[in-house]
Amino acid sequence: RAQGLTKVYHMGDVDVHALRGVDLDLRRGELVVLLGPSGSGKSTLLNILGGLDVPSAGHVWYDGHDLTKASERELTRFRRQHVGFVFQFYNLIPSLTARENVAIVTEIAEDPMTPEEALRRVGLEDRMDHFPSQLSGGQQQRIAIARAIAKRPSVLLCDEPTGALDSATGVHVLEAIETINATLGTTTVVITHNADIARMAHRVLYLGDGRIVSEKLNDARTPASELTW
Ligand code: ATP
Ligand code: MG
Repeated sequence: RAQGLTKVYHMGDVDVHALRGVDLDLRRGELVVLLGPSGSGKSTLLNILGGLDVPSAGHVWYDGHDLTKASERELTRFRRQHVGFVFQFYNLIPSLTARENVAIVTEIAEDPMTPEEALRRVGLEDRMDHFPSQLSGGQQQRIAIARAIAKRPSVLLCDEPTGALDSATGVHVLEAIETINATLGTTTVVITHNADIARMAHRVLYLGDGRIVSEKLNDARTPASELTW
């Protein structure tokens, strides 16, 4: 739950208002898509929700804990335990296979799935021993998703996961994210310009100039009553 989030970046004499008061409740198991023009504050919001950044004012609660009152150490712990991130660029280690890239996380997580299970869940069971350079962009992004979910995070935050892909490949990546949400129940927020995900989402939020300017529930996708807090 986020309340009154503002973020101001001080750039010399200029203040950049990235967020101007965002209130947001994410329901457990929800798949939310965040749309909005460039510079509207989408990444800033996602980073604050995931404990990568802190707001200038306002609060973020996770399971009743106020993250904005947490120490840096507690925030890092929250992030490591509960949040999976996926970014536009996959940030895979080129000298490691798909399996080994995921194992980096499973070796240190508290209750991980096996790298094999994580890769199966994104449809890469037949590519486990491939190196990133031997895989397509969409497959590399699915490794990054496997790496993000292998620790069984409660929240999966994806910032333009299809930004570097053509739209057909992007759809496969979005479908992998949708499957994770549906099968593991991972609460998921996806920033994307790919309109295809909007029909996969339970809810679409539109950000404009640092504010949530509109919100659309996807009735066809899920009755809101099935979602619990
Ligand atoms: P895009 O679709 O281009 O990724 P966005 O909606 O993700 O855009 P943000 O990256 O959240 O937008 O940026 C919101 C505003 O905050 C922009 O005006 C941006 O220039 C500014 N901003 C973001 N990060 C910083 C930073 N580290 N320092 C200064 N200004 C920043
Ligand atoms: Mg962004």
